[in-house]
Amino acid sequence: MTDTTFTASVPDQLPTAANYPGLDDWRELPVVQQPSWHDASVHASAVAELNTLPPLVFAGEVDVLRERLAQAADGKAFLLQGGDCAETFGAATADKISARVKTILQMAVVLTYGASLPVIKMGRMAGQFAKPRSSNDETREGVTLPAYRGDMVNGFDFTPESRAHDASRMVQAYHTSASTLNLIRAFTQGGFADLRLVHHWNKGFTANPAHSRYESLAREIDRAVKFMDACGADFDALKRVEFFASHEALVLDYERALTRIDSRTGLPYNTSGHFLWIGERTRQLDGAHVEFLSKVRNPIGVKLGPTSSADDALRLIDKLDPEREPGRLTFITRMGAGNIRQKLPELVKRVTDSGAKVLWVTDPMHGNTVTSPNGYKTRNFDDVIDEVRGFFDVHHELGTFPGGLHVEMTGDDVAECLGGADPIDQNAFLDRYESVCDPRLNHMQSLEMAFLVAGALSR
Ligand code: PEP
Ligand code: MN
Repeated sequence: MTDTTFTASVPDQLPTAANYPGLDDWRELPVVQQPSWHDASVHASAVAELNTLPPLVFAGEVDVLRERLAQAADGKAFLLQGGDCAETFGAATADKISARVKTILQMAVVLTYGASLPVIKMGRMAGQFAKPRSSNDETREGVTLPAYRGDMVNGFDFTPESRAHDASRMVQAYHTSASTLNLIRAFTQGGFADLRLVHHWNKGFTANPAHSRYESLAREIDRAVKFMDACGADFDALKRVEFFASHEALVLDYERALTRIDSRTGLPYNTSGHFLWIGERTRQLDGAHVEFLSKVRNPIGVKLGPTSSADDALRLIDKLDPEREPGRLTFITRMGAGNIRQKLPELVKRVTDSGAKVLWVTDPMHGNTVTSPNGYKTRNFDDVIDEVRGFFDVHHELGTFPGGLHVEMTGDDVAECLGGADPIDQNAFLDRYESVCDPRLNHMQSLEMAFLVAGALSR
C-alpha cells in the first residue's frame, strides 16, 4: 500500500496572487497612460519587492466600505471624497496630512449635521501618486522632456534625470502611502477625530468667512453633545471615525503587485487602497484598466466625462458589476458646469431603467478647468458650485439620489481656485499656488462647498 496519509493531510493548495486565474488577463489588452520605465532591471526588482510587502489596507475594511457605499447608493448615506489632485512625497508631512484630514472631518460634520445623513469619509490620499496626462511631453523654452506623471513615476523638476520614468519610485510610493495611512489611522482612531473636538479642528482659520459659520454650527453640536453627556449617553462611538483611502488605479504594475488573495474568502483584493477609481482617460471597455479592476473585490469608481454615452455606462456596469452588487460600482460624473444639465439626465435615466443600482457622485472639478489670464491652471469657484447644483437638480428631477461629492481640496490656505466668499484673485497665485497638478479648493472654499451641499441635500 502506498502511504497516502501525508498527501491527504496537506491542505488544498490556496491560490496565491501569483497564480489566481484572470489577474493577468489585462496584460493581453491595449493599455494607455503607462510609464516607459527606463531601466528594466530596476523595474523587475521594484515589482518583486512590492509583491512581498504587506498589504496597505485589509480586505475586511474594504468589505465594510462596500456596505457603506451600498447604503449611499440606497439614499441612506453620503460619500465625501477629497484630497490632492496629486500627492507628492515631499508634501507627505504631518502638518499637511493633518490639515487635510481635519478639513475633511469639518466638511463631514457640516454635511452630517446639515443633512442628517451618515457621511462616508474618504481621502484622495495615501496612494494618489500617479497622474494621467493628455500629452506625453512638456516643452519649456524650446526644451522638450517627458511630462510629469506623478511622484510614483518621475520627478517634477524639469531635468532629464528627474523626468525619466524610474520604477523604484513605486516602492517609495508604497512607503509614503504606508506612513500617510499610519498617521490617518492614528488621527481617526486615537482621539483627534473625537466629535467633542469640533471647535479644535477649526483653529487657525479665523480669517475665513466660513470660519464663523462653522463655529456657530460647532457650538450647536457642543450643546447637543453636552446635553447627551448629562443624560448619561455613551460617547465611545464619537471618539473614532471610519476613514477610507482611495486613489486612481493608474499604474497597473503597482496595482497588480499589491493585489492579494484574502485568506477569509479566497478572493483577490487590491490592497493599495480601499476604493480605486478608473479615470476618464483609461475607462475604455476593452482596455486593460477596466479588465484588471473587474477582477478585484474592492468597490470601484469610474469617472464619466461629457463624452460618455448611456451605452458606455451600461457596458461598464456589465463588465464591472455583473452581479449588480450594491456598493460595488460608483459613477463619478465630471461633465462641466455647462454640460451637466444636458448630459446627466440621459445617463441616469438609462442606468436606472436598466435596474442597476450604482452610486452617483459629482466631481465638479475636472470638467471646469481653465487657464487664468496670468497663465495658471485654475477653476472658478462659481463654476464648481454650478456643476454641483446641476448635479443635485438633475437627481431631484429624476427622483434618484445624488450620493456623493468628489473634490480636489487641501487643508492649507493656498490660492489655486478663483473666487469664493473671501475671493481669491489671480494675483494670489504668484505666492500661494502650490499644486503640481490641478488646482484645489483651499480650506475656506472647501467649508463653503460643504455648507452649500448640506443645504442642497436637506432640501
Ligand atoms: C483626477 O481625478 O485627477 C483626474 C485626472 O480626473 P479625470 O480622470 O476625471 O480627468
Ligand atoms: Mn486632477
